[in-house]
Amino acid sequence: MKKIVVLGGGIAGIESAIFLRKYNFDVELISDRDYFYIYPISIWIPTKEKNFEDVIIPIKDLASAHGFKFTQDKVLKVDDDSFTLEKSGRRDDFDYLVVALGQSKLKHKGIEYTYSICANPEETLKYSEKLDELIKKGKGKLAFGFGGNPKAKEAVRGGPVFELLFNVDYYLRKLKIRDNFELTFFAPMPKPGERLGENALKMMDMMFKKLNIKSYTGKKITEFTPDGVVLEDGTKIESDLTCFIAAGDGHPAIKSGNLPQTEAGFVIVEPTNQVKDVENVYAVGDSCALEGPEWKAKQGHLAEVMARNTAYNIALKEGLEKGNPKTYIDHINILCLMDMGNGGGLAYRDDKRAMLIPLPIVGHWMKKCWGVYYKLSKLGKIPRLPGM
Ligand SMILES: Cc1cc2nc3c(=O)[nH]c(=O)nc-3n(C[C@H](O)[C@H](O)[C@H](O)COP(=O)(O)OP(=O)(O)OC[C@H]3O[C@@H](n4cnc5c(N)ncnc54)[C@H](O)[C@@H]3O)c2cc1C
Repeated sequence: MKKIVVLGGGIAGIESAIFLRKYNFDVELISDRDYFYIYPISIWIPTKEKNFEDVIIPIKDLASAHGFKFTQDKVLKVDDDSFTLEKSGRRDDFDYLVVALGQSKLKHKGIEYTYSICANPEETLKYSEKLDELIKKGKGKLAFGFGGNPKAKEAVRGGPVFELLFNVDYYLRKLKIRDNFELTFFAPMPKPGERLGENALKMMDMMFKKLNIKSYTGKKITEFTPDGVVLEDGTKIESDLTCFIAAGDGHPAIKSGNLPQTEAGFVIVEPTNQVKDVENVYAVGDSCALEGPEWKAKQGHLAEVMARNTAYNIALKEGLEKGNPKTYIDHINILCLMDMGNGGGLAYRDDKRAMLIPLPIVGHWMKKCWGVYYKLSKLGKIPRLPGM
């Protein structure tokens, strides 16, 4: 049986390992964390609707449910014929390699004074602690923002910032202390969130006014300081606690290796997710460069499509499937249930439509139910719904 190594235990890596095992391949998954962190439901950690244990699945449980081997180690470099691990050094003992290491973040001046909910999970826990301290004090200034990457526009991650901002607003209202807090949103692009369409922009603007959230957009960020954010025109946003999600950048292990990659360090893949000109290496999820329309975005559901396609396309090469290779291109859309604490909005974008459908109250509970379904179905405890 062919040996397949999957690098990375996130949304793309776990889905790859699960679907490769359906073809009985000998699968080893290597990741630096011993748990699978479900980013989309981690937005509720700071507002105490979820704790850390609620948003993780130990990888050993997934390995035993699906029959793959798990090795905890850090990948330092990925080449077209091998990879290098921190503890065990260079390895080339595979027939196929699937790269699913996610992405890194751009560095900004003073970024150490900010917290991201899209990076290392420990940062979300630290943000949560700092928020608790301000709540104990009973007042404070909170800033929420995200940045762009001109070399990889699809690597911008704004949705979770809006989700956290609206959830924190609602949390403070529930605690009856919202009036003592100043909430500010900032982003360097003139129309942040515009990939969701004009209606979404108008709705966001309306929400900001209704909830008394200040907004600074269209001005580059010069630096972050311990007490705020300095913008290019000298404006200073005062902040006791800043959540900032820098745009994605290529993973260091990709940048150190020889796989074909974009200027920003994302792996160049064929629409089948095979790495360009490398027969037995695939890349899936946030690690790879996306083809497609201007508004495309790196998302969890697309990462899973890539992972399932990769398992199928490898099986096809091995004569275990019949038909044509599958590609991710037809699945490029934006689909996100954006949570707002006391409701949500279903954001959808494809070539023909761009919409944000408000789902008061029910939207929040739909996302909560999705989280429960996601965990149980990944562990094989309940059947999977088609395409989910
Ligand atoms: C807060 C948040 C909310 C989101 N909400 C949504 C949503 O509602 N809907 C949606 O579709 N998408 C959402 N996304 C986007 C989605 O989570 C990502 O697109 C998805 O996680 C990408 O999966 P991935 O496996 O490529 O990367 P990741 O999930 O980042 O996984 C990368 C994996 O590789 C491991 N790793 C990294 N470096 C190394 C190394 N050097 N050595 C070994 N292992 C390593 C990591 O530990 C991790 O297990 C959200 C993202 C965030 C951050």
